[in-house]
Amino acid sequence: MNAFSPAHFRAQFPALADAGVYLDSAATALKPQAVIDATHQFYSLSAGNVHRSQYAEAQRLTARYEAARDQVAQLLNAESGKNIVWTRGTTEAINMVAQCYARPRLQPGDEIIVSEAEHHANLVPWLMVAEQTGARVVKLPLGADWVADIARLPDVITPRSRILALGQMSNVTGGCPDLARAIEIAHANDMVVMVDGAQGVVHFPADVQQLDIDFYAFSGHKLYGPTGIGALYGKAELLEQMTPWLGGGKMITEVSFDGFQTQAVPYRLEAGTPNVAGVIGLSAALEWLADIDLQQAESWSRGLATLAEEALKKRPGFRSFRVQDSSLLAFDFAGVHHSDMVTLLAGYGIALRAGQHCAQPLLAALGVPGTLRVSFAPYNTQSDVEALVAAVDRALALLVDE
Ligand code: PMP
Repeated sequence: MNAFSPAHFRAQFPALADAGVYLDSAATALKPQAVIDATHQFYSLSAGNVHRSQYAEAQRLTARYEAARDQVAQLLNAESGKNIVWTRGTTEAINMVAQCYARPRLQPGDEIIVSEAEHHANLVPWLMVAEQTGARVVKLPLGADWVADIARLPDVITPRSRILALGQMSNVTGGCPDLARAIEIAHANDMVVMVDGAQGVVHFPADVQQLDIDFYAFSGHKLYGPTGIGALYGKAELLEQMTPWLGGGKMITEVSFDGFQTQAVPYRLEAGTPNVAGVIGLSAALEWLADIDLQQAESWSRGLATLAEEALKKRPGFRSFRVQDSSLLAFDFAGVHHSDMVTLLAGYGIALRAGQHCAQPLLAALGVPGTLRVSFAPYNTQSDVEALVAAVDRALALLVDE
């Protein structure tokens, strides 16, 4: 592993050669040349599908595709590649758990506990399955620190609680709940835990075995990989219990007009031609990441967020919603609408996000209609922070009456 060098890291992202300041990595990370090359090579040179044909290239692709499953297993310290199901991303993975695991099991009156900090991807699938089964979604509220209050979990759990849905890291505040404690409490109450790793995975990959996580979902595109590919980790005995939601090629062993027999997991949950290019791109991203000191990279990103927060704090009306020294900085200015500010900042070449960040209940709990959010990645620099602050000053000069 190489020591983290900000300049070397940044040089690998061709998108950064263009003018502009990219502060939206929590929405999606830029792609390093290694991922672009692997994807380009796949489409330029590869012929054939996976798991279908005997000719050499199809066999080679199948081996590469399956090896990527093992890479994901290694990233998460999963038991094996067989615990990894390919999905389009976090959203699909959580919906898959809701529909294939929870739906056949939930009874009217059962409870799904969802933290108030969740992204809609870890709330709406549970609301949907609750509507389908007569179960109830119950809120685990935020604590005073704006992080899901795990100390209150025992008060929220009842004998009807079945599932706990919890994010590893908030996409708004950057807050990380005490997953280990939450999982311990949930398991002591015979609950199954779904961890949304979409935001956390790039900062601190979770050790699913050490944490005893039941289901874990993440998206490749937030981990420098392609869009349209992600993964669901599940404990073997839980994946075994899942009823496939998509039927078609490669998820079966035998089919007749009388019925069908399904494959073993994970293949049973992956009907149809998969996103081979996505898997190969994600594999390249993981290979590339293996050479980077992620802890040093993370402290670089956090340092930039601190720098930005310190500078913006000096502007009147600034409020920060950042917790735990995260590399995400959500903020607003009293009396300034986030939409006005983000429009001006976009005009000044700053890419950031504003609004409710697909987390309306969290924003309601924070008591704001929306925020601005800058999210720093290791390819950002101090000059990005300076450009942000200068752009904010220009916008404030227009938006705030003296
Ligand atoms: N959860 C969190 C915390 C997220 O930040 C996101 C992406 N914004 C998602 C879930 C959904 O990820 P995707 O859109 O890649 O499925």
